[in-house]
Formats: sequence, structure tokens, C-alpha cells
Amino acid sequence: MSIKETDTLVVGAGQAGIAMSEHLGRAGIPHMVLERSRIAERWRSERWDSLVANGPAWHDRFPNMAFERTGPNGFPPKEEVADYLAAYARMIGAPITCGVEVEEVRRLEGRKGFAVRTSDGMIEAQHVVAATGPFQVAEVPDMIPARAGLDQIHSSAYRNPGALRDGAVLVIGAGSSGAQIAEELSGAGRRVFLSVGPHDRPPRAYRGRDFCWWLGVLGKWDMAAPAPGTEHVTIAVSGANGGRTVDFRRFANEGMTLLGRTEGCEAGVLRIADDLRANLDRGDANHLSLLDAADTYAARHGLDLPEEPQARARQPEPDCVTHPIRALDLAAEGITTVIWAVGFGVDYGWIKLDIFDERGRPLHHRGVSPERGIYYLGLPWQSRRGSSFIWGVWHDAKYIAEQIAIDRKYMEYHESAAAPSGRRA
Ligand SMILES: Cc1cc2nc3c(=O)[nH]c(=O)nc-3n(C[C@H](O)[C@H](O)[C@H](O)COP(=O)(O)OP(=O)(O)OC[C@H]3O[C@@H](n4cnc5c(N)ncnc54)[C@H](O)[C@@H]3O)c2cc1C
Repeated sequence: MSIKETDTLVVGAGQAGIAMSEHLGRAGIPHMVLERSRIAERWRSERWDSLVANGPAWHDRFPNMAFERTGPNGFPPKEEVADYLAAYARMIGAPITCGVEVEEVRRLEGRKGFAVRTSDGMIEAQHVVAATGPFQVAEVPDMIPARAGLDQIHSSAYRNPGALRDGAVLVIGAGSSGAQIAEELSGAGRRVFLSVGPHDRPPRAYRGRDFCWWLGVLGKWDMAAPAPGTEHVTIAVSGANGGRTVDFRRFANEGMTLLGRTEGCEAGVLRIADDLRANLDRGDANHLSLLDAADTYAARHGLDLPEEPQARARQPEPDCVTHPIRALDLAAEGITTVIWAVGFGVDYGWIKLDIFDERGRPLHHRGVSPERGIYYLGLPWQSRRGSSFIWGVWHDAKYIAEQIAIDRKYMEYHESAAAPSGRRA
């Protein structure tokens, strides 16, 4: 059986794999990219139908190409994001092979590099970059026992309101996915319950600038690590319907029922934490802190931006907040679908090396693993807050390409020093 060889094997052709290929190409590093499905597959088949990018088109993109169909201030639909990434891969001539899965990576015995088993044969590579995504495995907690008449799906399996069985819907998790799905279902006339945990809730726009711009100028996309104790705090933003600030009190005043965190389930009755008001207050505090920081920035830099005092207005307190529900009987409320929007896990089981923590998460520093030659790209907080997003991954890819180039330099020296002509006295 023939064994292919490459210097660097990139696994996955989402935005991370494409950005990686661009920087490897610029550095003159021979490489190949293997994608088990299609380029940007997750944008095509693991997102709901109406999803648009969370950031405006001028922001959520690579530096060297603009979106064609959506103007700079619009929010590209998910199919356009996928088309954009495929076009970008063509533009840079990325050596991507689709339909090939990487099944196993092992260290080569007695020499440098890795033996890679794929669905299309063996490859030997000096470096492997796992660009298999920040959000790989849908997490559905084993909390609500299965029963007839109740569907439980993950947010990545939600498509549209019409695809759900008739009845009320409980959405658990109020980050961007949960908030957007709940709002869409409520707007479609469904009775919706939304379980809200701790969250950040930036304004969609303030004083004429999108929050992506504010986070950029305030240095918040570049934050190197989550604030202590906030690692799991989700961010609730939406580009849907032209982009509106996520305001859970508005959701409730328009008909949705808000709940605190879902804690457990006994005999078809959900136990709900008494934390709804605290979670909303925390989201408000985050919202207001960004407005304050923006005002300070505008004043300090003499920016002539329109005042927007109404951004600080607070919706009336809905009844579900003043009288929080602590127990929710699913059948009595007519709930026929539970949508878990609580995030994703990772699966690096195909990397047969002892370089993961007890939860299977990669050990790394800025994407460089403890095993020389293995790298990651696109991880949440890989180097900064923006790392898992389209624009952020491009900058991390540059760093990983530099690390691979450094490793190659050491090996070039070793080889030249070992050669007769390069041998030193
Ligand atoms: C609902 C949702 C909305 C989002 N919206 C935005 C947004 O608006 N803006 C933004 O910047 N970010 C957004 N993100 C975050 C991020 O941009 C996406 O998660 C994006 O898909 C990550 O790209 P990636 O290339 O790192 O990983 P992925 O897109 O997950 O790509 C990984 C690829 O690897 C392939 N793969 C996996 N395992 C193997 C294997 N063993 N062999 C071969 N191939 C393999 C997969 O098929 C996949 O194509 C969103 C995320 C979600 C979940």
C-alpha cells in the first residue's frame, strides 16, 4: 500500500482549515487539507435555516475578501457564509481534498512525524493541525427522561418552526443560539419557555456603531483569557431581522415565558433555579458596562457620534420575572419539544496521543500542543476571545504557521549539520 507524504496535514476545511492553508502557503510550507465532508460543512448542514452571521459582513470575514451578496453592514445568511469560505479556498488555491476522513493519528516510531490513517489510505506528516472546530459534538444532558410525545433535540438539529411537532417548546440555554431560536419560535406563534442562565448581552449597536466595532476598539476581542469565574458565560447576540439587541424582558413582554436555569427533572416536572432575576441583572450590568465603556471611549477620542440615551431604558418587569416559576410540568404546559441550546463538546479520539485533559480537551498554549508537531486551530479562547470566530482564526493561523516554520528550521539545521558537507569541525 502506498503511503503519501506531506509536511503539514490540516484536518478540516472550515474557516480554520482554510485560514491555515493560506498562511502555510504564504510561508511556502507544503501541506494538504483533508475534509471528511464539504468545505464549510457545518455552516451548510448543522445550523438552522434562517441563521445569519452574528457579526456584520464588514467584520465577520477574512481580511482579503469581502462578501459579495450582503453589503458591509448586513448580516450574511449561513449559505452565503459557506459560499464565501468555498470561494476563498478557491481564491487562495487551497489544496483541499473533500470526502476524506482522518481516522487516526499516531506518532511514528523511531523517527519524527506522524502516521495518519485516513478513509483514503495512509499519510505520513511532520506536522498535523487539528482544525476540526470549536463546536464539534452536540451536548444533550441526560436530564429529562425520554417519553412518548416529547422530542428532545440539540440546537444544531433545529431547522425551522414548521419542522417541530405541534405544541409548546422549551428552549434550554439563552446564548446566541437559544435566544435566536426562541425568538423565531415565539414570532411564529409558538408558546415558548426559555431557560435563561448567566449571560452577557451587549447592545447590537450603540451610537451608530455595531457592537463588533465597539468590542474591537475597546480591545475586548483581544482579551487573552476569560475573566475569572466567567469561562462558561455565554454571549447573547443576534443578526436576525437586520440585527436587534437581545433583550429577554422584551421577549417576555411579547409573550415568551422566561425561566431560571433548569436544574433537574422529577416525574416530568422540571426543577428551575431561583436565579432568573440575578441572571437578567447580570446581563443588564454587562450591557450597561459596554455602553459606559463606549461613552468613555467616544469622549476620550473626540468621536462625534449621536447620543443614544434610550439604549439604557429598561423594559417593564414581566410577570415571569416578578413571580418566577420554580417547577414546570412539561405535560401540563403542553410542551412537546425541548431544544437544548447548551453548547458543544469536542472529540479528539482520533489523535492517539496522551495530550488531553481528563475531559478530553486539548492541552495547548495558543494552539501548540505538548507533543511537538501537533497543533490546533479554531479553539474557543485559543489565543484570545476572537479565536473561534471567522476574523480571529485567521490571525491564530498565522501564528501556528510561524510555529511550524520554526520547527522546520530546526530540522533543516539538523539535516544540514548531519550531511557530510555541513558537518562542523
Ligand atoms: C450557531 C452558530 C453560529 C455561529 N455564528 C458565527 C458568526 O456569525 N460569526 C463567526 O465568526 N462565528 C460564528 N460561529 C462560530 C464559528 O465561526 C463556527 O463554529 C465555525 O463553524 C468554526 O469554524 P472551524 O473551521 O473552526 O470549524 P468547523 O466549521 O466546525 O469545521 C471543522 C471541519 O472539520 C471537519 N472534520 C471534523 N473531523 C474531521 C476528521 N476527522 N477528518 C476530516 N475532517 C474532519 C468537519 O466536517 C468540518 O467541516 C457560530 C457558531 C455556531 C454554532
